[in-house]
Amino acid sequence: MVRPPHKEAKETLRFSGIAASRGIAIGPAYRYERTLLNAEDHQLALNDVGREIERFDTAVQKARQEIEKVRRVAEQKVGTPASSIFEAQMMMVSDEFILSSIRQRIKEELKPAAYAVDFELSSHQHVLEASENATMRDRANDIEDIKQRLLRYLLDRKKWLSKIDVPSILVATNLTPADAILFARSSMLGFAIDGGGVTSHVAILARSLGIPALVALHSASEHIETGDTLILDGERGELIVCPDSETLRGYEQEQSLVLGTGADFGGPLLEAGTSVVRTADGHPISILMNLEFGSEIAIIEAERLSQAVTGTNEEKRLGLGLVRTEHFLLLHDEFPTEEEQNALYKDLADRFFPAPVTLRTFDVGGDKVLSGSYREDNPFLGWRGLRISLDEPDLFLAQLRAILRASVRGNVKIMFPMVTTADELTRALEFVDEAKATLHSNGEPYDERIPIGIMVEVPSAAILADSFVPMVDYFSIGSNDLTQYALAVDRGNDLIASLYQELHPAVLKLICMTAEAGKRGGKPVSICGELGSYPLATPIVVGMGIEEISVSPSAVRSLATRLQLLHYSECKALADRVLANSFSPEDVKRQILQFLSERQLIDIFSETALRPGFGARLIKR
Ligand code: PEP
Ligand code: MG
Repeated sequence: MVRPPHKEAKETLRFSGIAASRGIAIGPAYRYERTLLNAEDHQLALNDVGREIERFDTAVQKARQEIEKVRRVAEQKVGTPASSIFEAQMMMVSDEFILSSIRQRIKEELKPAAYAVDFELSSHQHVLEASENATMRDRANDIEDIKQRLLRYLLDRKKWLSKIDVPSILVATNLTPADAILFARSSMLGFAIDGGGVTSHVAILARSLGIPALVALHSASEHIETGDTLILDGERGELIVCPDSETLRGYEQEQSLVLGTGADFGGPLLEAGTSVVRTADGHPISILMNLEFGSEIAIIEAERLSQAVTGTNEEKRLGLGLVRTEHFLLLHDEFPTEEEQNALYKDLADRFFPAPVTLRTFDVGGDKVLSGSYREDNPFLGWRGLRISLDEPDLFLAQLRAILRASVRGNVKIMFPMVTTADELTRALEFVDEAKATLHSNGEPYDERIPIGIMVEVPSAAILADSFVPMVDYFSIGSNDLTQYALAVDRGNDLIASLYQELHPAVLKLICMTAEAGKRGGKPVSICGELGSYPLATPIVVGMGIEEISVSPSAVRSLATRLQLLHYSECKALADRVLANSFSPEDVKRQILQFLSERQLIDIFSETALRPGFGARLIKR
């Protein structure tokens, strides 16, 4: 006799990780596993056969288009030998023998197209997988790829993601930014993932969405089942599974306190009519917000906080120092049209007018990979950001026209991501001229003097910042990428999270070089990476002469509060000392801590829960 498994009450487990976004969430776990797609079998009705074959043929067409696109790009990028992988895939997806056996299964065995594809391709795959020959075994991977492409269409890819029906804490080995956005639209209370780092895009998104999140939990997800009660402690970097009732009660009390503080915005912190906050000795710093596109919650939250911080309703809003337009793409299968983009950009320009709206052109690639796009071994060092835009003139021009058309009221700025060489920027500017010329000949208005700037997030751009000065209207420092590229530390890899040090003197020197080049050339320099909201970094950022700081909406108020407590002249002296005498991040931190402690500011500047090594008190199981 088979006995039903005896389900014992689970013991309490505690996992330590990195608090990527603050707050406390309490609720049932929802275990999310991204698995490869499989199709289920069922019997088709006879009169559905024709439609099913049509769906299959369309899926094949789409898969061919996708593979062809990737092949074309691969040929340009890596030459013919490597791109022949995609030719082989194209041959497979066009192989009449395979295609007609799938059609036959649909027609004669009344199988759904997805099932017929899965069955037929899996059997070819198994034969190849068993081969002694490595090339043959590689071919099996190609078949898997084709199968997944076809299944994605046939199963309607939106169904890949189960929606959360009851408010839950999402637990997964990893999460893409697209997953996070999609889940945030249902009832995700927070998320806890095994992988990731504090500046991975999914962590940044969590902060923007204002949901608590833990990353770098290593193998915690293996021990959690859907339905387990969880406490996600984004203040201390801890995940508690199946807590006892006393712990639960304590956290429920703390949770209401945390929420209470968040709602209390107090009075305005900015100078009337501006986005400027002044240091104690009167030095002005402009504050702006970073916005994750595609998330209405983020837009509304940004507006609400902007009004709370400025203390007004209409005119004196904070502007946007970085709009990550690529997040808009994550919700779409294809690149959105010029019209679709224009509608969104215009909406933002109108909502935030007269404050500036800095639209960064698509920064696809790295960890922001679109599904179905080309997979690379080193995506962060690969086809990313401006590199993709320059290789895809139609897409780039459509985005530039959409931005320009939204600029008529004069508050839109263009920003290019991942600029590495002056030549790239020259080409990008030529595209802007071309987009302007098209609009001009169509009689469409745009801001002829639209400011154009670049992200400084690749060391080469910081080192050669002087040479970029004549070509740009402003610089914006992307400290997240600048850190990963300067220190050769993948920003999303939890194994080396402790090596990711934004306060490394090498990173600070690159930032300083950029700030000084901007000053010499009379071009403003802002920072829009996460360093801008890192409390310990604030005195150094100010001292290096950064004039604008753009942070997640939820960080605005605390940043403004900190800035008012500092003296610019003292910060400048600190930055000069730190840059002259530091050889390690520890040197830097020691000097900052001493500076803060001499001024009795340690408490206010040590919101350390968000930072690995500093807060994220690592609590052992
Ligand atoms: C950065 O790299 O610092 C940045 C702001 O851009 P993103 O985080 O989108 O790469
Ligand atoms: Mg970046």
